[in-house]
Amino acid sequence: MSKRRRTGDANDSPASEEETPTQSMEVWFSDGNIVLQAQNVQFKVHKSVLAKHSSVFADLFEMPHTNDEQSVDGCPVVELHDSAEDIKHVVLTIYGDKAYVNVEGALSMAVVAAMIRMGQKYDIEHVKEAGLSRLKRVFPQQLADWDRNFDEGDGLYLHTIICGPDEGMLDLAIKAIELAHECGIKSILPACYLIVCRDHTFREEDTPKIPAIALGPCALGRAELLRLQLQTMYDWPGALGAVEGCLQELECLAIGRGLMIWLWQYARLSQTFFQWERVVKSYGFLIEDLCTICSSAARRNHDEGRLDLWRDLPAAFGLHGWNHLKDFES
Ligand SMILES: [Zn+2]
Repeated sequence: MSKRRRTGDANDSPASEEETPTQSMEVWFSDGNIVLQAQNVQFKVHKSVLAKHSSVFADLFEMPHTNDEQSVDGCPVVELHDSAEDIKHVVLTIYGDKAYVNVEGALSMAVVAAMIRMGQKYDIEHVKEAGLSRLKRVFPQQLADWDRNFDEGDGLYLHTIICGPDEGMLDLAIKAIELAHECGIKSILPACYLIVCRDHTFREEDTPKIPAIALGPCALGRAELLRLQLQTMYDWPGALGAVEGCLQELECLAIGRGLMIWLWQYARLSQTFFQWERVVKSYGFLIEDLCTICSSAARRNHDEGRLDLWRDLPAAFGLHGWNHLKDFES
């Protein structure tokens, strides 16, 4: 095996001591004045630029460098105990690399995680907040934002702000859960857990693996969501035929009973937070014969029930209410 490694391989395991350090292909400024080294990958950067953004780097550069005798390109070497991948991402973000600072462009989950992890460790507030804001857009705290992320027409998630090769929403949610627990991000957990409950089969052999820390909340959540969705957003069929002003009580009552049977027999987590249009698409063969009074009452109750269920979503996973889910608090 070659002693030299490409930077792309450097995020897996620390390098052995004999390995020759590799210069980063992306971060090597010829007029830089300090070399950062992480996992045997070296990055030539400017002290003043990093110190301007990070009080931790500023303090670090003031300290005597442990590796002065191994200067590279005439620059002292500072060893960091981070992954090379994280250092590359955070330095490129600080230097304003256009692939990293395009607000609407998609960043991979690895970059977003590096922004938050490194932003927190090195006290780079704007980088940490930029990463967090992307996470919060994909795993939101408001039902209206959740709805905006989901294409009701074809039932697909829209998550262009964070992406990765071959990654689906379930993979992203699982990576986000791991990051949330590592960095103390609570606000995104309900939406992450919801996606795991909806999209994972929970069979032992299936991937991606659910992190151990999320197994309890998600197992609880699966049972709770099935119960709660019938009590909140799908409780309107029980009122059909008894709605004030109903134009055909017997017919609407019969439709309500039929819907209840369908909903109880075929209740699925995949229909949690279905908007009314999708309910009509799924059960239209029953709903289309309702009288106009019952139909609009049903829609109103469904919309209100969705809001009630969203309000109770954190509790379904054993979490405190939305207002108590603060980020970066111990
Ligand atoms: Zn009616």
